Parts: sequence; structure tokens; C-alpha cells
Amino acid sequence: MDEWRLNRGAGMGRRFADLPLRFRVLACQAPLTLLFAAGLAAAPPAWALHVGTAWGQAALALHAALLLSSALVPWQRFGRSAPLVIPFLDLAAIGFSRAAAAGELPGLGVLTVLPIVWIAASRLSPAVVVATGLLGPVLAGLPWILSAPAGEAGKRIPTILLLALMTAAVSLAIQAGRAQLRRQQAKIAAKEAQLQALLAQSRERERLLNTILDTVDVGIVAIGADGRRLLTNSWQSRLEASAAPAGSATDGAAGDQEGEANLLLTGLDRSTPLPPGRRPLRRALEGGSFADHLVCFGTPPGSRVVSTAAQPLRNDDGGFHGAVVVYNEVTGLVNALAAKEDVVATVSHEFRTPLTSIIGNLDLVLGEELPQAVLRRLEVAQRNAERLLALVSDLLMSANSAVHVQPRRTDLAGLVEASLGSAQAHAHCAGVSLAMDVPAPLWANVDPLRISQALDNLVSNAIKYSPDGGAVTVSARACDGRLLLRVEDSGIGMTAADAEKVFTRFYRSPAVRDGAIPGAGLGLSITKAIVEGHGGSITCSTLPGRGSTFTVELPADGTPPSF
Ligand code: ADP
Repeated sequence: MDEWRLNRGAGMGRRFADLPLRFRVLACQAPLTLLFAAGLAAAPPAWALHVGTAWGQAALALHAALLLSSALVPWQRFGRSAPLVIPFLDLAAIGFSRAAAAGELPGLGVLTVLPIVWIAASRLSPAVVVATGLLGPVLAGLPWILSAPAGEAGKRIPTILLLALMTAAVSLAIQAGRAQLRRQQAKIAAKEAQLQALLAQSRERERLLNTILDTVDVGIVAIGADGRRLLTNSWQSRLEASAAPAGSATDGAAGDQEGEANLLLTGLDRSTPLPPGRRPLRRALEGGSFADHLVCFGTPPGSRVVSTAAQPLRNDDGGFHGAVVVYNEVTGLVNALAAKEDVVATVSHEFRTPLTSIIGNLDLVLGEELPQAVLRRLEVAQRNAERLLALVSDLLMSANSAVHVQPRRTDLAGLVEASLGSAQAHAHCAGVSLAMDVPAPLWANVDPLRISQALDNLVSNAIKYSPDGGAVTVSARACDGRLLLRVEDSGIGMTAADAEKVFTRFYRSPAVRDGAIPGAGLGLSITKAIVEGHGGSITCSTLPGRGSTFTVELPADGTPPSF
């Protein structure tokens, strides 16, 4: 914004100040000369007196000389204050005119106001200006007093004094106005300087932000509440270009969130197109904040897996104002994990066949007549082989990211009973009592094999992590169209930090690791996958030393999630 616009009130003065000095002096002088000439033209006797008297001739000569010198003198050579000689001499010219023809032109004295205004508007100090306003009319009135007939001079003095007071008041008013204007101009100049500094600062910040946005190795998109893109950094433009259909107009950054609909986005299987409602910008626009939403950009073999996260932008009232979505490529990580899981799955699979054969042969041998010592050793070998097989099965299952469930009408009470029945021997050895509180029958639409596996995991954990004399209760009931299944123990419990991580693969609490309680940290992650495969959820509430409660919530109709 330039200074001229800010200072619009001073625009006229500024344009006048831009004129060459000679024009400005002439423009200041011309009104007086014109008024004087008009007065003489309107009163021919006054003209005659000017031509015919020494005072009048002096006045005419001085007026003419002043007008000509205003126009002809190169004032800029003599400094800024030099033109002020004109209004001072104007006072003398007016004084001569009044001495010559004040009777015929009584208003001549009022012309004094014009040079006084000129002087008042100059840069002379306020004291000089006010003194001139007061003394100028007195000095200019001297010729009129001196030329007065005998006895008349005294009568003219009040008129002159009155005029002097009036011009002094005018000078004062102009000075006050100028001071006010100067203050306002100073304020405007300070504000403008402040504005310029802020502008420079915000440009600097914008440059810094753009550099950061284009340097970071993640994609960033900001969208407004209407879905228009406010910002797309260069990393994101390149990512979107790689997922644009061949020859499409959305190569590079799409113009708005609708541009996202044209991109080739798929789920983690890299083939199922991502439904519009699951696309990151659309999700963000619906106001939700999310993290680690995995999306594949483009088609194989060049498709890229990207972890997306979004945060809504809020205005001052807390209303939805748009969103920022961040894209972080995790293709390498996902590929490495898939390779690792492949290895685990292959190795586990290869272990299973020989292990099954070992267990089968041990079963056969244990059925024969053998010495007690050999029998005990073979039983130890059988127990460990069975543990190994269970571990291998868990590894195999957790390596398969998707759990396939085949729900059918099942009596949950029967499943709980069977699970507690098979855990009874283990509980007995550990000195833990088992109890069941489930109305029979309790019908549910679940996969009986998978839910039994989940139940077994929860019950065996409850026994494993309870000291001698502990109690485990399994309860279940239908509530508001949901099924709630609870496995409660009075065991060692966990800290809140542990409880947050227990569903993560291979996680084992420090207390359990230090206590050398056997386990692989896979049971709960498998249980969670099974429950979620049914469209349900699992939570854990626990206190160290006070026991734990795992609650499984299943939808009554057992519909698995769609995607
Ligand atoms: P594992 O029992 O083989 O170690 P899980 O995945 O079943 O693996 O459990 C993970 C961890 O959660 C356990 O190592 C233990 O620290 C904790 N945990 C699970 N169930 C309980 C429980 N009922 N009481 C206390 N801690 C538990």
C-alpha cells in the first residue's frame, strides 16, 4: 500500500506541493491581485485615485511588480523561504492602496487577510506567524493613518486594531490546524511504518514456511471448509501426479478435494479402489481427525503406501474452518513387514508338520508299557512339543493380517463352558478357582472356532497371571443389542501404561518378563484381531495387584466391518 493511499486526506496538498515552485508562488499571489483588480474595476473613482496620487501609483507599481516576480523569479535558487518576501510586500502594497483610496474602496483592508494566510501556512515558526498576523495589518495601516486629514488619524486606529485582532485569530487558527495535521500525519506515518514492518515480517515468514513445506519429506495439504485447497506442498504434488490416471487433467496437485476423487487410490490390498468416504481429504472435510490411515497411491508395481493423518482447523468460535492432512510414505516399511511376516509364516508352517508328527509319535509311545522314568521324560517332551505347536500356530495366525470369520448361530454359554472345562486342569494345578455366570442358552451370531480361541486366550491368561488362591470369573449377557463377554481375574494386574500396549504384538509387561512367566506376547493381539473380525471391540481395565477385567463387546448380529 503506498503512502498516497494511506494519506488520502492530504492528497490535494500533496498534488499542489508537486507543482513547480514558480507556479505555486503565482497561485498564492494571483487571488490577491485579482481581487484588487476587481475592486478597482468596480469603483472607477478608486482607479482614478490610484493613477492620480503618489500612494496609488506606488501601490499599482508594487502590485504589478509582485505579480510579475511571482511568475518570473527562479525561486528555487533562493531557498524555500524566499517566496515569503511576496506576502510581506503585499502588506505594503495594500497599505499604499488604502492610503490612496480607502474612502472609495472601504474593503481594501480586508485584503490583508490573504498575505497573512499565506504567511501563516508557511513553515515560519508559530511565534513569527502570530506576530505577523497581529503586526502586519498595523504596519500596513500606517500609510492610511499617515495620509489621514488632520483629526481623522485617531478614528482610523480602532479599525486597524480590529483588523489586526482578526488576522491574528486567523493566524492562530491556521497554526492550530497545521499542528493538528502534522500530528495526524505523524501518526499515519508511524502506522504505515508499522504496517510495512509487519508486511516484511509476514513475507519473511511466508518464505520460511514455503521453504520448510517444500523441504520436508512428507506431503501436506490444507483445505478450506468449502473443500477448496489452500495449500499443497511440492512433495504432495509429486505423489498425486504419480497416482493420476494417465492423461488426466489432474496431473499434479488437484484443484480441490474433488480432485482427489480422480486419483488412483486403493486399500492395502493395492487393488480395491478406495471408496470416496475413505479418501483422506474427504474424511478430513467431514470434520474428523484421524491418524495412521493407510492408503495406496497409484497402481502396482509402482504403487506407494502412504500413512495419512488429519487435524481440523478451527476458527475463533471453535467452528470447523478446514483441515490439514499430512501424507507420510511408508512403502518401504510395509514391504519390510510383509517380507518379515512371509518369513515367519513360512518358517512356522514348516515347523508345524514335523511338530505334529513328533506329538503324534509321542502319543503313540506314551500309550505303551514303559518304565516310569522314561514315561516322565516323554511326558515332558510331549508338553514342550505341544507348547511349541501352540506357539507356532499363534505365529502363523498373527502373520496373517486378515482374520477370516464365518459367523453362524452359536450358543455362547456352551463355548464358555467348553473353554472353562478345558482350562480346569491347568487352573487346578495353579490353585485358581474358575466360575461362570452366563445365562444358557445365550445365542450369538459368531464364528464358534474363533470365539473359542479368543476365550481360551483370555481364560488361560487370567489363570497364568493369577497367584495361588486366585479366582477367575467369566460372565456374559446381552445388552442393548450387544453381547458383553467379561473375563475377570484377581491376579497380578497391570499398570495403566501396560494396559495401553497389551494388544500390541509381542508386548509383555516388564513385571511378567522379570517374573519369567512363559509367553510370547501374541495371544491378546490375536484375540483382538478375532473380535474386530466380528465387528466388535475389546478393552482392558486393570490395577496392579488387584486383578484385570477384559471386556469383549460383540454386535448382536455379528456383522463384520465392511472395509
Ligand atoms: P502372553 O500372555 O503370551 O505373554 P498375551 O498377548 O496374551 O501374551 O498378553 C500380553 C501381555 O499382557 C502379557 O505378557 C501380560 O504382561 C499382560 N496380560 C495379559 N493378560 C493379563 C492378565 N489377565 N493379567 C495381567 N497381565 C496380563
